[in-house]
Order: sequence, then structure tokens, then C-alpha cells
Amino acid sequence: MLCIMKLTFRGVLALPLLAIGLMTASTNAAAWDVHALITHQSLLGFKFRDAAFWNELNTEVTVTPIEDFITKAFGTTCTWNKMKDSVLEGVGRGYKVTYAEGITYHFEVEWNRGISRQIIQPVISEQNPQGVGRHVKPLEVISIYSDEPDWNMDDDVPQLRGKGIAEAGEGTATRTLRHFWYEGENSFGVDFGKDQHTDRRAQLFYELALIAFEVHEPYWGYRFIANALHYIQDMTQPYHTKALISDSLIDKISLIRAKLCEWHKSENCGDDFTLSSQVIKNAWVVGAYHGAFEDFARGLFAPSSSFATYSYVSDFNGYYEKLPTTEKLPWVSPAMSPLIDFRDIIRAEQQIINNFATKIGDYSYNTFGFKARYDTQATQKAVLATGSNDSDAYRMATLWSFGLEYLNMTSRQQKYLPLLVEQAHEVLMRAGVWSRQLIKQTMTQSTDDAVRAVIEKHRAAFQKKCESPPSP
Ligand SMILES: [Zn+2]
Repeated sequence: MLCIMKLTFRGVLALPLLAIGLMTASTNAAAWDVHALITHQSLLGFKFRDAAFWNELNTEVTVTPIEDFITKAFGTTCTWNKMKDSVLEGVGRGYKVTYAEGITYHFEVEWNRGISRQIIQPVISEQNPQGVGRHVKPLEVISIYSDEPDWNMDDDVPQLRGKGIAEAGEGTATRTLRHFWYEGENSFGVDFGKDQHTDRRAQLFYELALIAFEVHEPYWGYRFIANALHYIQDMTQPYHTKALISDSLIDKISLIRAKLCEWHKSENCGDDFTLSSQVIKNAWVVGAYHGAFEDFARGLFAPSSSFATYSYVSDFNGYYEKLPTTEKLPWVSPAMSPLIDFRDIIRAEQQIINNFATKIGDYSYNTFGFKARYDTQATQKAVLATGSNDSDAYRMATLWSFGLEYLNMTSRQQKYLPLLVEQAHEVLMRAGVWSRQLIKQTMTQSTDDAVRAVIEKHRAAFQKKCESPPSP
């Protein structure tokens, strides 16, 4: 969770809130780290409703090295090193193209400085079924690599230093600019959405996918579309679409008191009661609940959970997809037609998902309990537990069926748990519908002549960009 984000901000009033937004971002590292799970479950929805497409998703392709794709798409003078800084506009310092089945990770944190960094280990077995030369199902490729943008791809991106509301973004902090969307959130004169590129990231990988299919590199077509999908799914997590998600998670009194102490130091203030320490503390708190909600969502998918979450996501009979209340995203937009315009998609998602933000923030607080907010040790423990099956939130979501955990909860938790489940289902159901729609749209477009003509022009432009990359 948490990123190594450096908390240096411009503006004093803005300080507390900014940091909170940022930290939330960092927490993202852990969460929705269930992309593969959501994707797989979403794609299963095609099984009974679209047999031809389901068949396509199960028809094996050969894993080829990225160098093959680069040469075919952008010529022999383009290399990975050039492509990452030109076409990809910079990737994380620690990012490598891997052919992995997944990753394991842990966090390195500096509590006092409010910094965290996600340390990633790719999981590659000796018989690596995802290795170069192997035959793999698109279903697997799309599922596995829908997590990849969280594998250091967007952390520690040199090109993003000094961008956004953090002056010196490092570690997971630079991910904020590519996986979150706070446009329109202006509080205390601060533009939370400053320099966020989430729409551009989705656009980029979607176009790379179409290019890959065009140059007969289907493996990379599926893998790039998986990357694009990641950003679409991140937008279904309200902690990613609203910086100040809920008042119940922020200790405003302590921030005001710290601010007063800065102006006028009294005996009550003490040396450690500074504004920046209170900002960092609040940021960890929001980060803890952000992580807890994602653990909770992950737990809802577990076989031992009785909440039947998979059925909301797979939507086997198309019930939710046909509901008039399931908002349609503007997959066809005039400005970029015949291509998808992700500037429209990301904004539409934010608007829809923000309808659930306040409830999910409040219900998280009431369901996961107050300790993480009021007890520093509990906050730290919660932060470090994120992503593990031992976290309270994960257990609450999985052990419901045994009843035992439920009996151990306070009456407030018993009241709010089902309410949180209901809200989680609302956003996860949309994650399923929208994931399927993006994949289907892209695959349909890949054989459309009008799309192919436009994508050829974009390919040529990328090639040019790669031939004269910006100096590092
Ligand atoms: Zn993400």
C-alpha cells in the first residue's frame, strides 16, 4: 500500500487534504490488486451468452517477446529502451517486461515521512506456462496482465517527477497520476486532478492493442488490451475517483489544531504535534480504509464467502447488463470516431462511480471499525495487513458464512456489513459489464476497416516518435 510518496506540497492550507489524496493513491498499490480476479470473472460472463467470442478467448496464441512486436510495429530502429520513453511516455524505474504468472509484493514504509514503496517479485516457475514460446489462452493473458500496470509500471516514473499535487513524487506516488481521476475536485484552492493522465494511459494501451493485432502479434494485442482494461477497472473503485471520499475518515479537528499550533505554539501543542505529522497520520488512515475496502472486495470473491459476488461480476444471464440502471459508457464518441475516446469513458465512469463514494467511505468506516482511525498502531497494522488473507476486512468478507466472525462483531458492524456488501456489488457489477464491453469493442474494432485505416496512421506516428525519442 502505500507508496513512497514524498509529502512536499505547495500551499499551506492545501497541505492536509492534498496529502490525504496522495496517500490514498499510494494505497492503491495493494488494492484492486484483484484485477486478474475481476477480469477472469467478467470474461466468464461470455461463456453462455456469446459462444463464438468465448471460443476466441480460448483459442491459444503463442507468447512472443516484446521485441518482436516492436520490430513489426515500429521498425528495426525502435528498441524497448526508446519505446518506453517515447511511445509509452515513461515507465517506472523498477519496471521490466516480464512473462510472469503473477507477482508477490510487500511494502516498505517510512511512517514518519508518509512514504511507502511496493516491492515486487514476479512469480515465474521453472515450467513457466506464461513464458516466451508457450501457447496461452487469451482468457489467461487478459486476466493476468490486467494487473500489470500495478507491477511498478507507473511507480517511480522519472518523467512524472514534480507533476501533480506532489512536488517530488516517488515510489507509488507517481501511480496517483495514472490510476486515479480526481478531476473537478477543487477544495481549498487545490486542484486534486492536476496532471492526471489516466485517460491517456487507457487510450495508449488500447491503440497499442489494435496496432498489435494489425501487425499480427495477437499475444501483444491481448496483453495491451489487458493493460488498458486496468485503468477502466481502477475507475470502478470510488477511492480512485474521489479524493475526499468521506468526512468520517478524516480527523479535521486534529488538522485544525495542528494548524493553530503552527501559528501559535502553546503548551498543549508539544513538539510532535505539527501540521505535517497530522497530515501524514490522516493520510495513513485513509490509506488503511482504502486498502481494507479492496481486501474486502477480494474476500467477496472467495469460495467461502456467501455473498455470491462472482454472479454479480460474471452476470451469466445478462441481467445487470440489461438493467436500465446499468449506465452505458460512451464507447462511440464523435470526437475520435471510429476509435474509442477514453477522455469520455474515464469521465463518465468517475461520474457514475462517485454516486457510490460517500456511502462506501462511510460504510467502510463503520464496518471495519474505528481503531484504524484513532489508534496509530492499529492504523499501521491495518496498512501492513493489506493484501493479505489475515486482514480483518478480508476475513469479514469471507467468513460470513461461518457466522462466527459475525457474532464477534459489534452491533454497528453487523448493521453496516451488509450495506457495504450491497455497495461493493453495485460497483463490481459495473466493473464486470464495462470490462466485457471494452474487450468486445476492441476485438470487434480490430477487424473493422475504418478502424484499421486510422490505427495505421497512429502506428506511423508512434514509429516516428520512437525514432526520435526525447533525451532522457
Ligand atoms: Zn491501478
